This record gives sequence, C-alpha cells and structure tokens, in this order.
Amino acid sequence: MKLVIANWKNNPKILAQAKRIFLSVKKRAGQLKNVEIVICPPFLYLPELSISRSRLKLGGQDCSWEGSIPLTGEVTPSMLKSFGAEYVILGHSERRRYFQETDAVINRKIKSALKTGLKVIFCVGEDPRNQIKKGLKGIRGGVMPQVAIVYEPLSAISTQKGSLVVPAELRQKKTLIQNALKQMFSRTVSQKIKIIYGGSVDEKNIKTLLKETEMDGFLIGQASLSSSRFLKIVQFCNRNRRTT
Ligand code: PEP
Repeated sequence: MKLVIANWKNNPKILAQAKRIFLSVKKRAGQLKNVEIVICPPFLYLPELSISRSRLKLGGQDCSWEGSIPLTGEVTPSMLKSFGAEYVILGHSERRRYFQETDAVINRKIKSALKTGLKVIFCVGEDPRNQIKKGLKGIRGGVMPQVAIVYEPLSAISTQKGSLVVPAELRQKKTLIQNALKQMFSRTVSQKIKIIYGGSVDEKNIKTLLKETEMDGFLIGQASLSSSRFLKIVQFCNRNRRTT
C-alpha cells in the first residue's frame, strides 16, 4: 500500500482553511482503500482536525525528545500521540537548514518518537547514506518497520517547475538507500522499510513517478494545500497497487 503524506509546513494561515482542506480530503479518502493518507498540519491545528479524522491519519512535522529537563517551546512525542497523531516527520531539510538540526539531534528525536509508539517519517537529502547511518544509529532492527525513509533532496523542494529529479536517479537512490539499510540492519528488515520520495510532486508528474520509479509513497508539500490537487495524486496512488 502506498503511503502518501501531506506536509502542510506553516500553512494554511487560518484554522478554517485547514478544516476545509482536511474535510474535502476526508470525504473522498473513505473510498480509497489502497493508499494510506497522512496529513501533517501545524501543531496548533491537530486537536481540531483530530476530532474528525476518520480514515485519515495525522502526523506532526517535528517533535522534541521526551525527557525530564524543561524544553521551552517544544512539543513531545507523547503530546502528539495524545492528540491523535500516529506519525511524525523528522529530519526535514528545512529543519536541518533553518534550525540547525544535526544528525545527532535527529537521532535522539527518532529514538524518542519510536519509544513513544509514533511512526517516523525520516527525511534524508543530498547525502542519504551518511544521514541514514547517523540518524538511525543505535536503533534496533525490530522497530525499523515503523520508520519510512523519505528521499528528498533540498534542491528538489517546491521548485515551481515540477520535479527536477529524474526517475532513473530516483531508482538509483532507492537502491542506495536499500543497501545502506541492509548493511545497517539486515536484508529482511530493509525489505520492510518503505522508501518514499518528496520534492515538487504534483498531479502532473505523479503518473510518471508511479510508472517509472518504484517508490513506496510520496511526501507532498505545496500540492497538498489544495484538496483537489492532493486528491488527484492520492487517487493515482490508490490505483497503482504495486508495493514492496
Ligand atoms: C517538502 O518540503 O516536504 C515537500 C515535499 O515540498 P514540495 O512538495 O513543495 O516540494
């Protein structure tokens, strides 16, 4: 089953708009049985959307680690869980770039999120092998099926020109990521981990991406803020049942 994740980032600007997008997606989502849809809104919208989530899954776009020290401004994995989130995005390139998140910090967050029972959407970019090695350090193979790896090069995000990464390159990166996972864990474990792509995926390039790459899902930024565009992507994924 394909995993399709909406990363709303710091959008939409008002709750009413968030509810409108969410409810339109939800209305159609009930009929789409071959795809898992996860909406990751800003933290503040989670409680409102959680009430009416039905088949849609919710995720946070980040979280801190659990701990006994005070962490001003942070949201912990258990807080996310208590508002109905099942997933959390960690290691997004915008967090690495603008908030100086290091691999060590991301590793700590991933461990804490997994311990709390959240599924992790772990983003890696230009240096996937190294980021995987450091980000997943010390994690047991047994919990790895709860992690999806997103290959999302910074240069491909929100380009306005569609995806700049060609299918052949994506196939190559998927193999590289699988090999890195195989080396770190085992072949059996690596086969249970979804490898997905993010970077300017839209309703126009999704058909090619589905046909010419074997990605297990997609992370959608810009195009997920329009329910009609997002639903077109989700519907294409729903029709394409191929899985790992
Ligand atoms: C993202 O930043 O996670 C993303 C996928 O954005 P976009 O689809 O806008 O490139």
